[in-house]
Amino acid sequence: MQCPRCEFMNQADSRFCTECGQRLGREPAPASLVPDSSTGSTAQAHPPGDIPVLRKNKAGLAAFFLGIAGIVLWVLTIFGFLWALGSALSGASSMNSDLLGIGIVGCFFLAVVVNLTGLVLGIVATTKEDLRKGFAIAGTCLNAIPPAFFLLAILPKMFFAMY
Ligand SMILES: [Zn+2]
Repeated sequence: MQCPRCEFMNQADSRFCTECGQRLGREPAPASLVPDSSTGSTAQAHPPGDIPVLRKNKAGLAAFFLGIAGIVLWVLTIFGFLWALGSALSGASSMNSDLLGIGIVGCFFLAVVVNLTGLVLGIVATTKEDLRKGFAIAGTCLNAIPPAFFLLAILPKMFFAMY
């Protein structure tokens, strides 16, 4: 490679001229020294106000609140179960335990429906462009972790408690 300054012929892979120390290679010169040949004008920088302001993510917010509702329903399911277990052991009236059983199963299915809806909303909201992601990501986690925790940690214990 020929040095642009002293015209000394350097090796092709040399980064600096061995004769004068001039930097070699295809590194571009500073942009201010290169005139824009295609338009004849310098490139216009984006004005500061051009940055898009992220809009509120309504689906993400909905997913977040569904996640909170789901947690309440899971807590009700678990405490209802523990209460039913306690009253079954102490021999409480059967009508009360029937109502309690319906309530527990109702809370369980409502929690599943709420979490599934919240999970779908959260994932959709997370993948949306130009929207705030915080609530969407939090909502997705809130709708995914409690049912996973329930299935893996609580449900086996319920079966052991019953049988
Ligand atoms: Zn040189």
